[in-house]
Amino acid sequence: LQPSKSAISGHDLTGPGFGRLEVDLLAGLNEQGGEAVSRVLLEPLTGRDEERLAQTDAAHNLPVWATRLLAEKVFWKGQPLGQERAAGLAIVDRDLLMLYLRMQTFGSGVRGVTTCGHKDCGVKLDFYFDLNAMTIPQRQSSGHARPATVAQAERSIRFSFREPDGRDQAVIADLAAVDPEQAWLALMAGCITEWDGQAGITAQTLAGLPDDVLSAVDQTLADEIYSLDWEIELACSECGRNFKRTLDIQAIFRQELQFCNDGLLEEVHQLAFYYHWSEADILNLTRGKRRLYLQYIQKEIQT
Ligand SMILES: [Zn+2]
Repeated sequence: LQPSKSAISGHDLTGPGFGRLEVDLLAGLNEQGGEAVSRVLLEPLTGRDEERLAQTDAAHNLPVWATRLLAEKVFWKGQPLGQERAAGLAIVDRDLLMLYLRMQTFGSGVRGVTTCGHKDCGVKLDFYFDLNAMTIPQRQSSGHARPATVAQAERSIRFSFREPDGRDQAVIADLAAVDPEQAWLALMAGCITEWDGQAGITAQTLAGLPDDVLSAVDQTLADEIYSLDWEIELACSECGRNFKRTLDIQAIFRQELQFCNDGLLEEVHQLAFYYHWSEADILNLTRGKRRLYLQYIQKEIQT
């Protein structure tokens, strides 16, 4: 899924508003010996953030990029969350925060380009969907490790696992691009904190397990680990068939910030021209506020 350049040039202001947004985390963050982080505030991006983020290297590790952004824009107890806590958030919470940050910035509509999922067709298609239609899972009790069992031969193996976090995501990001299966094995191994009385298991040992045991572990983790990997169903206008695509909100948002933002300086120019505000003041506004003032100017000009 590629966002289209024209996607967000409109005045889609249907996001959760321009101000700070309170978000209840789904997995939360258990501080070692400290207070659990469960409710945070999300600070919307300003023009200055947009300007800086447009210059990010596209080849840069996506989870590391997301950690930096969340470290600055998520607030807990009046302070930015910081790199360490942002990296320690469960993937599901990172996706949730990124979803709201995206909606605060660009609204809820996502427009883009993809190709038909049927190989015999493969035509290029425009798509649109509304992020408000996405289902958010229920809040989870805690980020503590959870126990599970799988059967091997005549006995059952007990193991414990925790939610994967931003650090796990960063470690496997490059591998995931070339070998998703190996990446998933590495992610599972990283999240298994205890295996059959041992402290964890390596990806190699995991891969060497009998097929039925491995697939049972795989199934348990796939069912139990919360994710916001939304499958969206799209209809092909060429061949008339439906197909599914997975929406990666972090990837989409980064692409939008990198490639769809060439209107920023023009907006600064127009606002400076009509209101005589300084560039610095205008860049401190959110995208939503800039667009709103531009609408007011449009109305003045028309009347
Ligand atoms: Zn098609």
